[in-house]
Amino acid sequence: MSGSNTGHDESKNLSLTVTEIYASIQGESSYAGLPCVFIRLSGCPLRCRWCDTVYSYKAGEAYSISNISEQVKRHGISLVEITGGEPLAQPNTPQLIHYLLQQGYEVLIETSGSEPIDTLDPRTHIIMDLKCPDSKMEQHNLYKNIEYLKASDEVKFVIASRKDFDWALDTIKQYHLEDICKILLSCAFGLIQPAELVSWMLEAKVKARLNLQQHKYIWSPKAKGV
Ligand code: SF4
Repeated sequence: MSGSNTGHDESKNLSLTVTEIYASIQGESSYAGLPCVFIRLSGCPLRCRWCDTVYSYKAGEAYSISNISEQVKRHGISLVEITGGEPLAQPNTPQLIHYLLQQGYEVLIETSGSEPIDTLDPRTHIIMDLKCPDSKMEQHNLYKNIEYLKASDEVKFVIASRKDFDWALDTIKQYHLEDICKILLSCAFGLIQPAELVSWMLEAKVKARLNLQQHKYIWSPKAKGV
């Protein structure tokens, strides 16, 4: 992979723009409920209609890879998620992930699926969105990424309407996603109710996991840094 020799000196020279680093419980994915340190990188080229992290669009603060690692270490938690914004919009993200893996962390990345994932260390646990039509960002889906998904990775659809749900079913079928990796179906918060999504899932008998954003039920849906 690119940056596979990220050493100590390089970790001081390479920097990324960071919005926030904090510890919380993982609210989504098959890791939901586990303590996790989140590194929220700044900036996103997309503008999903229902985006809940608009505050990450603007420029954050520059941190070297070793600075980020020091901040993560303070929390004493072995699970780390790189999120955003769109974390793969920054060129040094694969090197950051590689460095954290070398330090012994289990690393998750949450990506919009609009940037190539083939630069990532194969030990990375990838949670990749495929943007549904009502996000208004469907045209950014990079379907070639599906070739690089592993059985342990996860594809997430954020569902804002019945039209989105039907589109997700068609996409799952077209790309044989049930045979490739785990599938997450999430409600666009406030746009559809979990009970409604569950009834559609049962009716369709889709092999997917309901993905509630636990942090939005524990704290205020608008709370940052949780
Ligand atoms: S990809 Fe994520 S951060 Fe970017 S606009 Fe969509 S929801 Fe927001």
